[in-house]
Amino acid sequence: MVKKKRSSTNEIYDKEKEKIEKRQNQNKHHEKFWIICIPTLCVILLILLAILLFLPSIILKGDKEVTLEYGKVYKEKGYTASYFNHNLTNKVKVSGKVNNKKIGKYKITYKVNNGFFTIKKTRTVIVADTKSPKISLFGDKKVYVCPGKEYKELGFRAVDNYDDNLTNKVKVKKYLNKVIYTLRDKSHNFTKVERKIFYEDIEKPEIKLNGGDIVYSFIGEEYKDLGYEVIDNCDTSLKDKVEVTGNVDTNTAGTYKITYKVKDNAGNTEEKQRTVIVSEHGQDGTIYLTFDDGPKDGTTNIILDILRDNGIKATFFITNNGPDELVKREFDEGHTVALHTASHNYSTVYASVDDYFKDLESVKQRADRITGEDTKIIRFPGGSSNTISRRYSMGLMSTLTEEVVKRGFHYFDWNLYSGDAGELYDADAVANNVIRQLRKDRVNMILMHDIKPYTRDAIDKIIKFGKENGYVFDKITMATEMIKQKVNN
Ligand SMILES: [Zn+2]
Repeated sequence: MVKKKRSSTNEIYDKEKEKIEKRQNQNKHHEKFWIICIPTLCVILLILLAILLFLPSIILKGDKEVTLEYGKVYKEKGYTASYFNHNLTNKVKVSGKVNNKKIGKYKITYKVNNGFFTIKKTRTVIVADTKSPKISLFGDKKVYVCPGKEYKELGFRAVDNYDDNLTNKVKVKKYLNKVIYTLRDKSHNFTKVERKIFYEDIEKPEIKLNGGDIVYSFIGEEYKDLGYEVIDNCDTSLKDKVEVTGNVDTNTAGTYKITYKVKDNAGNTEEKQRTVIVSEHGQDGTIYLTFDDGPKDGTTNIILDILRDNGIKATFFITNNGPDELVKREFDEGHTVALHTASHNYSTVYASVDDYFKDLESVKQRADRITGEDTKIIRFPGGSSNTISRRYSMGLMSTLTEEVVKRGFHYFDWNLYSGDAGELYDADAVANNVIRQLRKDRVNMILMHDIKPYTRDAIDKIIKFGKENGYVFDKITMATEMIKQKVNN
């Protein structure tokens, strides 16, 4: 019994021992594994670290995908490249081109090599038309159309940065009181513009006073209004509806106002005033615009237009030159047609008393024929004070100045010379020269030449100055006091 007990104790011991041995073996195995494994891992980590340190990198500034508007110049946003602590930015090779004139996708490649590794990055540039086309309307965006009238398209123009002119692709639709213009370009960019139509007349009529805002009338003479024109956007025949009020008393010198008032069918009113200056003929401050040597096409006719538009009368000392129609127009429009000379040739005109009168008779016949009048107002070529006549006939002017008066003529020299017969060649210079010499304490008999283009162009300024500064414009008549210079021959 005991023996048996002992034997079972041994068995247990053996088993325990076996277990311990097995455990010790296992531990030895683990140790071996770690001894091999840890260094291996370390090596791998080191290699990876080395790769990371030696691997270059490129960093792109800006987006990797960029949209570039068609036509705009592509600007590189830039990049940086480095490895470890080395800057490689200027070693980066950039390739690839962007055609900004062609819609599409473009690739830009950035490459860098640090001696160990090559790294590549790309950026995509998309050239696209994202801009809407532009429709520009001719005329206003708000249009007023006369009541009862149709809106007439005022036109438009459409341009696009990519498609260029798209005017004929614009769709125009009328909807209620709107005109709607739409347009889609080839890249499907859309534009819409509207125009509003108001069927209303908001514009007042315009009154145009014939003869201008200031006109002249003389004591004892009937005042004749030069009339007016009415222009209106919607209504025709408003002329009859103008109310004219105000009186001019031509028996009393003074300044009178005439008012012109008109209302169009929509109730828009307009009012204008005209000043009528009533004075004696020949009072101080009177301006006599006198023109010698004409008429001439291209200058005299324009001067006549200006005088008409300003309601001013002037005096024309004519020659035998120029068209008869202009002489007729001078007369018909109320100016004084006077005599200068037929030929303006000093050597023949001033050869003798007879020669002078022969010349004068010739130009008188022309004037009388055209005007139907007995023309008696004259101006000597070169004026009564001329010395050139001495060359041809000594003492001639002394005889002539007496002789013409005996024969019923009135001769007029001047006391204000415009400088347009050879000294000044510029409209402003002529006008300023006249304006500078104007005086209120005398009449201003201005010598000018209607054959000169710069005189033609100076007239407006002279008249404007005269009107604004209280001068009175008049023409020479037989009642006008003669302006005589000192005779020198
Ligand atoms: Zn002359």
